[in-house]
Amino acid sequence: MPELPEVETIVHGLKPQIEGKVLLADMNSGKNLRYPLPDFAACHGATLKNIERRAKYLLFHFDNEQTWIWHLGMTGQFHVLSTAEPAAKHEHVCLTFSGDCTLRYRDTRRFGYAGLCQTSELESHQWMQNLGIEPLTPAFDGQYLKDKLSTRKTSIKQAMMDNAVVVGVGNIYASESLFRAKINPRQTANSISARKLSTLATHIQGVLNEAIEAGGSTISDFVKADGKPGYFAHSFQVYGRADKPCFTCSKPIQKIVQGGRSTFFCPKCQKLK
Ligand SMILES: [Zn+2]
Repeated sequence: MPELPEVETIVHGLKPQIEGKVLLADMNSGKNLRYPLPDFAACHGATLKNIERRAKYLLFHFDNEQTWIWHLGMTGQFHVLSTAEPAAKHEHVCLTFSGDCTLRYRDTRRFGYAGLCQTSELESHQWMQNLGIEPLTPAFDGQYLKDKLSTRKTSIKQAMMDNAVVVGVGNIYASESLFRAKINPRQTANSISARKLSTLATHIQGVLNEAIEAGGSTISDFVKADGKPGYFAHSFQVYGRADKPCFTCSKPIQKIVQGGRSTFFCPKCQKLK
């Protein structure tokens, strides 16, 4: 599943290719994604002003005050191709823009979804209204986490993955940043000191920014070529490394399940306190 850095990378890749262009036509495969497709024709003739990311959503803002909200689900991919390019397998939406340019959406499993709303009503849209703070903003710091987690008795790992606390810290980056901050993923969220939470906030921003930077060099894989959206596996220290030696202390990395998701950590470097 694409996480925040992948979505940010995709947005960076799409912006120079389709921003400023006019939507001319739309076609779809006739198959629904997770929900029925919105009426893309509402934006025919409108100019795509800009694309941005909110949590793991891509937002496409048009100059007719309409915004598309798009989530990639598990296997969604965008490709920018010329109009002559035939539809690929699993291509479900083809949006034709001015300048011989089409934005194609492929999704093998069709868990992705798209919606449309008035730009002015975006914040109150059902997919947007309960989203917490963005992790890559200055307001996301140790003090914010201390305030937000003061009454939380869930594990810190699960609290980090709660979109009402902070958006876009997915399973991989939660494990990685807890390792860097030397916090045990089972630690109760409200039992962690302000100092530790400050370290954690810094490391969350660090792992996400590093992944975004790594993504910048492989942007063509995300947007143009046929490669699946991938993760930046080379930088993982614990994620996916069960039973392998910790890079810091050589103890085997442990895998546990929390809230139905795998967590990876080093029992020596991340002692439960
Ligand atoms: Zn270790």
